[in-house]
Amino acid sequence: MKITDLKVAIIGDAPIVRITTDEGIDGVGAAEYWKPYLKPMIEFYRDMIIGKDPTDVERVMLGIRRMGSFKPWGAAVSAIEMALWDIAGKSAGLPVYKLLGGKIRDRVQVYNGSVRFDMKGKEPEHYAENMQKMKDHPYNFSIIKQAVSFHGGMQNVDGFYYGTPVKNMRHPNRGTITGKGFSYLMTRIEAMLDVLGDDVGLALDCGPGMTVPDALKLGKELEGSNIMWLEDMITGDYSPYVLADLYTQVTPYTSTPIHTGEQIYLRQNFVELIERNAVNVLGPDVADVGGIAEMKFIAEYADLHGIQFAPHGVFDGLIGLAAQTHLAAVLPDNYIAFELPKAEPPWWLDIMEGETFPVEDSHIEVPDSPGLGVIFIPEEAKKYLREEDKDFFDE
Ligand SMILES: [Mg+2]
Repeated sequence: MKITDLKVAIIGDAPIVRITTDEGIDGVGAAEYWKPYLKPMIEFYRDMIIGKDPTDVERVMLGIRRMGSFKPWGAAVSAIEMALWDIAGKSAGLPVYKLLGGKIRDRVQVYNGSVRFDMKGKEPEHYAENMQKMKDHPYNFSIIKQAVSFHGGMQNVDGFYYGTPVKNMRHPNRGTITGKGFSYLMTRIEAMLDVLGDDVGLALDCGPGMTVPDALKLGKELEGSNIMWLEDMITGDYSPYVLADLYTQVTPYTSTPIHTGEQIYLRQNFVELIERNAVNVLGPDVADVGGIAEMKFIAEYADLHGIQFAPHGVFDGLIGLAAQTHLAAVLPDNYIAFELPKAEPPWWLDIMEGETFPVEDSHIEVPDSPGLGVIFIPEEAKKYLREEDKDFFDE
């Protein structure tokens, strides 16, 4: 089998890749659904994969992997890798998880980072009320993640930290949290913990932007409470670097689990975090790390070092959800849960057929249909294609 083309369309705002072959089998992959700007990055790899056998996934990846990097290029490489596994699975008549070595669990656990409700204010009772709504959601989530500190807009609260907040999107606010700021943070966290009790674990997305001493202080304050992890306190989320050294000044000194990794591309960039036990939990995103097999390698290496695994995925869409599910089925027992992506906009469920990955009791049943298990209905999907992508489903 040979790859004949790589096409990219922006559907909704999601960059979708479709790889076609000379045997009529195609495969799909996706990057985060709010990043239409990734189209040219994915197309960049087109000529490097045409003519290759897509079922030799690793050989194709060797040809493009080193041409990637942290976001946005790693996202492009990851979307292509997903599509290759889809083709390999369809061609073998097997679900992707079988090609990855076979599943070790029939249901995979997911956590809530995507089912959100409007918050009526910023007082502790508003955090509590909001958390209660998420706890009562019919998916019965076992872990709920909430944004706080520099990730939750608290930098804009008067006197939260010793620094001048910049409200421009993507500006990395960062600095020392004041005494008042720390109390503000703790009262909101405590309000949420009270609601969740020991029924549901609370994960906190915290930055980046916190200093090493503040990160350690927060970890120590929360010892003994039902915190699943503190995410990206110092680096992470859109930091194009790792700085494992900073985490080694925090993680060994508190029993509260420390988490990072969603921004990182490739196994090589996890070596220091893992070998130095710089964090307790890693959370790469299958749509940024380099793909499904890349993530599996990292999870296994982390497991050998006593590090847990809770993948990021809020923006991965329906195709990303499929990839996450197959992957989670094969990961070692250090796997906790992946962040449930949502289909955004909701009409995604009308333009694809196959598996729908329903959530029950915070788990998704691993499907058995070939490939990733989701297939476009071209007549329906074409309604959402942009003029320049009109030929996306041709040949
Ligand atoms: Mg995060």
